[in-house]
Amino acid sequence: MPAVNWDEERIAAEALRYLGAAGAGPELTAQACRAARELQAWAEPRWAFRLDRVLPAAGGMTLPNMNLALPGELASRMLGDCEKAVLLVCTLGARFAARLRQLAARSMAEAVVADACGSAMVEAACDRAEEEIAARYAPLHLTDRFSPGYGDLPLHVQAPLTAAVEAEKLLGVTVTDSFLLNPAKTVTAVIGLSQRPQPARVRGCAHCNLRESCRLRRKGESCAV
Ligand code: SF4
Repeated sequence: MPAVNWDEERIAAEALRYLGAAGAGPELTAQACRAARELQAWAEPRWAFRLDRVLPAAGGMTLPNMNLALPGELASRMLGDCEKAVLLVCTLGARFAARLRQLAARSMAEAVVADACGSAMVEAACDRAEEEIAARYAPLHLTDRFSPGYGDLPLHVQAPLTAAVEAEKLLGVTVTDSFLLNPAKTVTAVIGLSQRPQPARVRGCAHCNLRESCRLRRKGESCAV
């Protein structure tokens, strides 16, 4: 199992932000920290990824060797400067999802905080996967990762994306008829790879390596999607 940095204070802070409770009082913060600590014992983070060329196509982009269409303006904008793209599937595993179900049966209030901690934890696992991808394909530069259901990238892309990565065989990840991922706390994402440094279009200027020299930012504009 790969090592992930489960910094419980960071996970708790992220979870509270997802819940719209950033800056919450000490009681809720302590509850989120406890949940983040307890859940670490249940997480079995694993991921798989696959690389392909990426080409413009009518109304979006395509990964030709996987025969995968990424329709919409988001994919065109994120991958327009990229020669290649990686498809990523990352999961905290079935034990983690089962623990969340147990907590939901016990207390709804506890379950809401735990669920948000799970979301923050799977994003931390994706960050770790991204480090591996960056090292594997250096010196190419990564775009921000973006997922089906975000912007105008349709949720139904979950199905061909997970199939392309062989996520069921490698990770036990399946997609429901309504395009939800099983087990819970599984994320799919697309990451572009470019010869040039890429703006932080999803995360914003504060995270962007180009911010010191960016003319858009100086004019008070942004390339953010
Ligand atoms: S506007 Fe400039 S600084 Fe902000 S994310 Fe885009 S490239 Fe980066």
